[in-house]
Amino acid sequence: MGGMTEPTRPKTSSPYDVNSQPVPLSDCAACQKITAKREAARAEFDYSAVSDGTVMLRAHLRTAHDQ
Ligand SMILES: [Zn+2]
Repeated sequence: MGGMTEPTRPKTSSPYDVNSQPVPLSDCAACQKITAKREAARAEFDYSAVSDGTVMLRAHLRTAHDQ
């Protein structure tokens, strides 16, 4: 029993972990498309669309790039 010791974390972080931003792959068209939408939403201060884009990108990274 380790008291304050951090337990072993699963390989993928929680989809609601807002502290870690998903990183799009520069050579993936789908990553770039999602990122472009997210950046457009950010430019319009549409933060719910920004977070939708973050969730989409994270899900895409997990399914398409095994991250
Ligand atoms: Zn991708």
